[in-house]
Amino acid sequence: MTDVPAALPAAAPNTGAAVGGFSTRAIHAGQAPEPVTGAVVVPIFQTSTFAQDVVGEPRAGYDYSRAGNPTRTALEQALASLEGGRAGFAYASGMAATDTLLRAVLRPGDHLVLPADAYGGTFRLISRVLANWGITYTAVALADLDAVRAALQPNTRIVWCETPTNPLLNVADIAALADIAHGAGARLVVDNTFASPYLQQPLALGADVVLHSTTKYVGGHSDVVGGALIVDDADLAEELAFHTKSIGGVAGPFDAWITLRGVKTLAVRMDRHCDNAEAVAEMLAEHPRVGTVHYPGLQTHPHHQVAAGQMLRFGGMVSFTVRDGRDAALKVCQRTAVFTLGESLGGVESLIEHPGLMTHASVAGSAHEVPDDLVRLSVGIEDVDDLLDDLRQALD
Ligand SMILES: *Cc1c(COP(=O)(O)O)cnc(C)c1O
Repeated sequence: MTDVPAALPAAAPNTGAAVGGFSTRAIHAGQAPEPVTGAVVVPIFQTSTFAQDVVGEPRAGYDYSRAGNPTRTALEQALASLEGGRAGFAYASGMAATDTLLRAVLRPGDHLVLPADAYGGTFRLISRVLANWGITYTAVALADLDAVRAALQPNTRIVWCETPTNPLLNVADIAALADIAHGAGARLVVDNTFASPYLQQPLALGADVVLHSTTKYVGGHSDVVGGALIVDDADLAEELAFHTKSIGGVAGPFDAWITLRGVKTLAVRMDRHCDNAEAVAEMLAEHPRVGTVHYPGLQTHPHHQVAAGQMLRFGGMVSFTVRDGRDAALKVCQRTAVFTLGESLGGVESLIEHPGLMTHASVAGSAHEVPDDLVRLSVGIEDVDDLLDDLRQALD
């Protein structure tokens, strides 16, 4: 059995430090070559427990994989570096991340402000699970800052922000929301899933917590479900570490590893997603059978200026209405060949769906209902001409 070296060789140039530009950190932060074998890629530490040489003194700080696992740590350090935070935490799903955060921060009697078009799973967790534990909420359109101010209560602890939103691609002003939340003694949480850390870094804009469904762009290949939290505040990091190990909804070693593999190519994938989505949005905006195109990169988008101020580019999600109504929208969804009809988003392959009957079916009949002639695209990284041709033939 090989002993772990007492320290990394002094000359080792890569210590996994969080230095350099975005892609350098995506590829190296938390990912120094493994010290025993020199493996360049962080191994999958598929183990539940770790040998101790002395009672209570694990060799490298790891004793049990719910509390900590080296593969998960690598992912957590990489994500913390990309979001500019002190600490990252990786979970089995985006919802496990949300649940851990809310239980760490909220107590019975507390209130939160939610986006009117919050991700359905977030809304369900708060309205149907946490409501049973004495949590209350008010849902408002976050683009209306006066409405956000009016929704604050003395017991408001969290303002929850998603931007851009799903499926209408509304954009909220993160810095303005941070000021409003902090003025009321609340924290601003930003679900950064749609933008990814490459396009938008909410901590630098004043947010207190960044949340990701890493299932989407961070993982990027539709092959793993995961979630993450990133914070900069040391006390909050400690609270989250305690609640994470206590609740136990952590990412397993393999899931952490395959997510980290996605992280390495995040910047090149996002640039291609953005290139393709821009071309798709422009083509749709000119198409006679298309009504409204929702894409924050279009000059005509109502929140284009806010988006341009806080995002590097405008992302890979596009939605649009079909002029002839619901049945025509359904036909478009069923006629594409390169775009696959399916839920979820953020993978390399293009997806198309009808939110009214698929991802947003549960809000039908409520104030959050989406237009029934709406089609949502997750624009992938295929050749753009194939994507444009596919949509044109589906619309004809
Ligand atoms: C998918 C998604 C989630 C939930 O994440 P899971 O990984 O599916 O649990 C949360 N927020 C947004 C914006 C999402 O798209």
